[in-house]
Amino acid sequence: MAELPEIVKLASQMRDTLCGKTMQSVTLLQEKCSNIPTDEFQKRVVGAKIKEVRNKGKWIIIVLGNGENILMSLGMGADVLYFENEKNQADKYQVKVSFSDGSGFTARFWWFGKFLLVSDDELESEPNTKDIAIDPFDERFTLDYFSTLLKGKKTQIKAFLMNQKNVGGIGNMYMHDILFKARLHPQKKISDMDENEIRLLYNSIIDILNLSREKGTFAYESDFFGQKGGYTLDYFLVGYKENQPCPVCGEKIISIKTGSTTSFICPACQKV
Ligand SMILES: [Zn+2]
Repeated sequence: MAELPEIVKLASQMRDTLCGKTMQSVTLLQEKCSNIPTDEFQKRVVGAKIKEVRNKGKWIIIVLGNGENILMSLGMGADVLYFENEKNQADKYQVKVSFSDGSGFTARFWWFGKFLLVSDDELESEPNTKDIAIDPFDERFTLDYFSTLLKGKKTQIKAFLMNQKNVGGIGNMYMHDILFKARLHPQKKISDMDENEIRLLYNSIIDILNLSREKGTFAYESDFFGQKGGYTLDYFLVGYKENQPCPVCGEKIISIKTGSTTSFICPACQKV
């Protein structure tokens, strides 16, 4: 599952490797992952130089010098892999981009991904990405900002944080430990949280995501060069550790249903 640390790393590797390269061709083996047919995609990007690669929440935006933008979502996960020349390209992919110097990259979506083309004029109103909030790695994501964001909300905390319109980039995978570290039950109502709990939660979000980033991000996912990260399940506190002892109190970790997601919690440390 690619969440903020993985996406930020991938976007930065793509930026370092691809900026300045000239688009030569785009192959879409699964046309429904795009918003336009392959031949139109191809026509609008060929000859354009890559100007910038950045992320917006869990989306990657490849900015081209000709006023076009490629928007990529990995969905449940994907292998997005660079190749120096076609001989080294991955065997399986739904999307392939080739550059004029013979290099390129492929994307193989595990479940369903998106690869859209949007002009500069359409970018601001693009329905998938327009409402995504700033993410915790953004310098504007301060404790003040976060407290203001939560003010007056009556939603359950996990559902609130999972909503990309509130906070960009966090998904279910890192959520278990984020809430555990802040000693919060996923179904705790925001209006029942005090200042101290909000501060603990803010620090927990930053700490957990930063730790993953420091360790090279999630270990079961490949980066742009096919390397796995170093953030193994050993670093998880309660996430995916059902029936194992809580690292703080020793109580058995349980999994509970929270809306459409599963949550791993310590029932003693995280009370509703
Ligand atoms: Zn506990």
